[in-house]
Amino acid sequence: PEFISVANLGLALNVKLDIFVQQLEELGFEDISKESILTGETAALVAQEYGYEPTVDIGEDEDLKPRPPPEDPTSLPLRPPVVTIMGHVDHGKTTLLDYLRKSSIVSQEHGGITQHIGAFSVNLSSGKQITFLDTPGHAAFLTMRQRGANVTDMVILVVAADDSVKPQTLEALKHARSAKVPIIVAINKVDKDSANVERVKSDLAANGVEIEDYGGDVQVVCVSGKTGQGMADLEESILTLSEMLDIRAETDGMAEGWVLESSIKPIGRVATVLVKRGTLRPGDHIVAGRVAAKIRSLRNEARIEVDEAPPGTAVEILGWKEPPDAGDQVLQAPNEDKAKTAAHYRQELKERAENIAQQAEQDRERREKE
Ligand code: GDP
Ligand code: MG
Repeated sequence: PEFISVANLGLALNVKLDIFVQQLEELGFEDISKESILTGETAALVAQEYGYEPTVDIGEDEDLKPRPPPEDPTSLPLRPPVVTIMGHVDHGKTTLLDYLRKSSIVSQEHGGITQHIGAFSVNLSSGKQITFLDTPGHAAFLTMRQRGANVTDMVILVVAADDSVKPQTLEALKHARSAKVPIIVAINKVDKDSANVERVKSDLAANGVEIEDYGGDVQVVCVSGKTGQGMADLEESILTLSEMLDIRAETDGMAEGWVLESSIKPIGRVATVLVKRGTLRPGDHIVAGRVAAKIRSLRNEARIEVDEAPPGTAVEILGWKEPPDAGDQVLQAPNEDKAKTAAHYRQELKERAENIAQQAEQDRERREKE
């Protein structure tokens, strides 16, 4: 609504009416009573004083929204699992990812020159696919979670066999738990003489990880990113968990995904996007944050152009006029008009919110001076 009465605002903010009116007077409102009418913007300012983050109604909703969740997910096609590798520094995350990346059939077929992008998909000889997120640290993972998205289906918790459980191991565990994402433990560096697999297992158990050997259901795989030992088992474990989770998504309809990385390269602005629903193709119109784009081309991690990006895969998207932000949600729009209107609407929302915040700040300063 554009206007609200003091009584209704007090109700919305859950403050007793006589106290609310008194507090409004203290805030500097003159001749205020419970019948007074406030504008939406003033109400938003007041709400902010009470610790709320008001959303501003700028009229007709021209935003683009994700589709509602599917009614019967079990009838949808399976999609590749999306996997994030976490663990303590130097326990071998990068080494494992590099090994997996090089072992991909696609990279072998194309001379093995793979690039470092925010995610890559490994094609197994069985024809199945696994998508690994290569996010720098946990930051993007957390941002996207704050926006209500679980981009990853599972976490591979890497623990070095010669170092066992360390602070960042526990931190990763905490993240996985709060996101309710299942884990697989990869005990790495088992090629080393100083490796002590049993110690890692008991340390994990002591920290509440219900590993298989101790009667739980968390798979533990011994690997070496250096020699490649156990890596096929790790892929197998991922597929096993994936089957249990029954990971499915629509391949049709308006696509949805997330920006994992965004950068400016000699060929233009590039964003790595993880597709979660639907399929993206060149020519499609999309919106990411406040940016609209028409997809010029899609490329995989080997920098090879692909003609489509189905759910559960990550691609580099070219065609942005403005760079989107990592952590932005990507939504396909039915046409260019809708994409541009939504982007414009979001821009306007942001500007309005900034104005209100600025006003509130100025108000505060003014009151402090008085
Ligand atoms: P990250 O910080 O978790 O990404 O760890 P890195 O992948 O950078 O690995 C840290 C160090 O451990 C590097 O010197 C790697 O060469 C070494 N390393 C990683 N995996 C193995 C392994 O399986 N065996 C041995 N012997 N060394 C490893
Ligand atoms: Mg690393």
